[in-house]
Amino acid sequence: MDESGGSARLFEQQLTPAERAAIDSVPKGLFLGGRWRDTPTTLPVLDPATGQTLCAVADASPADGLDGLTAAAAAQADWARTPPRTRSDILMRAHRALLADTERLALIMTLEMGKPLAEARGEIAYAAEFFRWFAEEAVRLDGGYLPAPAGGSRFLVTEQPVGPSLLITPWNFPMAMGARKIAPALAAGCTCVVKPAEQTPLSMLALAAVLAESGVPDGVVNVVTTADPGALMTPLIADSRSRKLSFTGSTAVGKLLLEQCARTVMRTSMELGGNAPLLVFDDADLDEAVEGALAAKMRNIGQACTAANRILVQRGVAETFAERLAARMAALPMGRGTEPDVVVGPLIDADAVAKVERLVADARRRGARVLLGGEAIAGPGTFYPATVLTGVDDEAELCHTEIFGPVAAIATFDTEDEAVARANDTPYGLVAYVFTENLRRGLRVCEALETGMVGLNQGVVSNPAAPFGGVKESGLGREGGFTGIDEFLETKYIGVKV
Ligand code: NAP
Repeated sequence: MDESGGSARLFEQQLTPAERAAIDSVPKGLFLGGRWRDTPTTLPVLDPATGQTLCAVADASPADGLDGLTAAAAAQADWARTPPRTRSDILMRAHRALLADTERLALIMTLEMGKPLAEARGEIAYAAEFFRWFAEEAVRLDGGYLPAPAGGSRFLVTEQPVGPSLLITPWNFPMAMGARKIAPALAAGCTCVVKPAEQTPLSMLALAAVLAESGVPDGVVNVVTTADPGALMTPLIADSRSRKLSFTGSTAVGKLLLEQCARTVMRTSMELGGNAPLLVFDDADLDEAVEGALAAKMRNIGQACTAANRILVQRGVAETFAERLAARMAALPMGRGTEPDVVVGPLIDADAVAKVERLVADARRRGARVLLGGEAIAGPGTFYPATVLTGVDDEAELCHTEIFGPVAAIATFDTEDEAVARANDTPYGLVAYVFTENLRRGLRVCEALETGMVGLNQGVVSNPAAPFGGVKESGLGREGGFTGIDEFLETKYIGVKV
């Protein structure tokens, strides 16, 4: 182990033949109406582990974006009329195709985003599961037939697809965040225009090709990549043919998009930023708490909306917990995600490293102690080592903003009420984690936490069968679970005179 908390293995190298083949296998154009379209300008895709350019993809103009919406609008009626069982079969084929293609797709994701291959494989399985889950849900749309309380008529209640949907996704889970939107949209009978993040377009382009091969008809899924998301999406949001915006990304951009959607009263789903507290009580199983914290902190190299941002530990166990967590984090090998055993890959870009450096420096100025790591690593690549800080002051900036890096920020508390109050002292409300062996306390605290999700004695909550989403400034709506499809359905009531 070195000072930085891991054995830094940094790379500046050409792609291997297998890596080159994976990148070459991805279509690089826009996917519009079932056809691939090249554009006059392109945008580069970089490997964050080396800084080297992997390839270039199409750079859509606003007119290309509108062509995508035109294709989605043209395909809408047929897709809505397609029997749910047929839609379900197509989604199930996509599920199987993704799983069968895991190695290629995982490698593409690791190269463009940096996450270790094992995590990328896990994300392909997670993404594939959304297609299976919503294939199953496609044939279970709800409805009702009720007598009017006063008699004389009947209420017929039915669910219809909301219509052409705009889906915007972030770079941190480049395939799963798209799958979590595309699968329910298609299951509900909606067509869509998908805009992946500029830094990770390849996973979505590869997914589009897999979906086409699985039988998704032309125009049902359209994908546009661009260097100027505002210019591309603003006219699409303003267009009355768009009926829904489903966005996953930062709260700042989410608010901007909500304002734009207000102008046409467009339906929205918003999966936004988080500031997850992780509470460890002195009656917790400490081994479980350390493993849970490790998972909640280090998944995706800390670049997850669900990442444990503030770790609050009851005073009696705080020192032991911090030492054990630091020992576990110190043992995590760092390097390019394609290397075997690597757990800590690069951050997405130099700005991400600079942000983590700034947050750690601020916490230190306010009295935090560095137990592990704490210094960025010189390039090539944008690496920051696993870091543990203790004695973090509540006023430190990292307690109020997403760290989005492998930094465990630990502070202590004395009482349950204090822990809950401090955990809730944030405008965010996506997820929280609670570690205690006391069932009553566990349930009491879970109910008191102002978040859409809580992990009780577990550090990962994401599951396609569970309703994922936040409260407060972390978002609107839920993805996955039984209600995930509702985000793409409108309830229609038909009054029937009898
Ligand atoms: P971001 O900057 O908000 O970008 C998200 C997406 O929005 C990208 O595709 C981006 O395109 C696009 N975008 C940016 N400005 C836009 C505009 N004016 N109009 C239309 N689209 C626009 O977020 P990020 O940095 O990619 O992702 C990290 C954030 O996502 C974190 O805050 C994280 O917590 C959140 N997140 C939330 C969840 C959840 O489920 N709640 C899951 C994952 C991530 P470009 O890439 O071209 O900028």
